[in-house]
Amino acid sequence: PRLANQIAAGEVVERPASVVKELVENSLDAGATRIELDVERGGHKRIRLRDNGSGIVKDELELALSRHATSKIATLDDLEQILSLGFRGEALASISAVSRLTLTSKPATQEQAWQASCEGRDMAVTLQPAAHPDGTTIDVADIFYNTPARRKFLRTEKTEYQHIEDVIKRIALSRPDVTFILRHNDKVTKRYAATGTDQLAVRVGQVCGKAFIEQAIHTRCDYESIQLEAWLGNAEQLRSSNDCQYSFVNGRGMRDKLILHALRQAYESVLAVAEQPAFVVYLTINPKEVDVNVHPAKHEVRFQQSRLVHDFICKTVCDALSSWAD
Ligand code: ADP
Ligand code: MG
Repeated sequence: PRLANQIAAGEVVERPASVVKELVENSLDAGATRIELDVERGGHKRIRLRDNGSGIVKDELELALSRHATSKIATLDDLEQILSLGFRGEALASISAVSRLTLTSKPATQEQAWQASCEGRDMAVTLQPAAHPDGTTIDVADIFYNTPARRKFLRTEKTEYQHIEDVIKRIALSRPDVTFILRHNDKVTKRYAATGTDQLAVRVGQVCGKAFIEQAIHTRCDYESIQLEAWLGNAEQLRSSNDCQYSFVNGRGMRDKLILHALRQAYESVLAVAEQPAFVVYLTINPKEVDVNVHPAKHEVRFQQSRLVHDFICKTVCDALSSWAD
């Protein structure tokens, strides 16, 4: 099973940032409202996440570390309308196959916290009592220590850390109601205090910076079952903030080609600029008209009426940019 897990890990665990993504999504699935992440040496050394979510009961700790153990699919009906972010049940098993993983958790209903760790060649899980507040801590140390071929592909600590930061930014933009605290080598590097869900602008400002939010063009438009809310960088911001490009479809971060294309076309036609604009775009659409599970790891979506969605985005952005250019 260990080899199978290591192979599966290749799909889930590409680099430290992919570990972070899986762990944070699990915390959100568990209803956490506060997520703290401690990273050492770009994640090469350690990634530790602590949340205040629902926790894992003692009897399920071992199961949580085994493959295809997901508490998130009860019936086929669930599968068809996947509401939670995770549904494959192999992230933790995959991560533990390529790192030294410790899982400590305390559900509010349980008096004692318990800690599970995988050890030895057979990855036997050992359980011991621990001290921990309500919630979960997952400690992932020495990533790829046992898969040297993969370890070689790790980039510099700085680069890996930037990928981690980007994952956190992306998720933070989709969950303004959750507090995120990010530390690198014991120093707080990002702190996003929870805001109301109706205060998206506050979160966009926290993540993309004061300069961006103060100058960006804000627009909001509805068409039938589609809604778009966006903060669009102006011409001066084109060059400086081209790393700030975030799009979300029904709350999930997506690097979607169609959205990017529609934005580019709008910027090109109104401002005559071919550079990539800075933007934060939220698209809300009837879930029945979009297939998000085309490839969960690649953040791809497929719109049933792709032409319509494209043109709606392009027109909305064009209108916003023109009124600003006037
Ligand atoms: P999946 O998220 O696809 O179900 P994972 O391997 O990511 O699979 O997690 C396995 C299980 O462990 C989850 O289904 C969940 O029950 C539990 N779990 C993982 N992380 C947490 C967490 N932070 N809080 C509560 N439960 C968790
Ligand atoms: Mg998961």
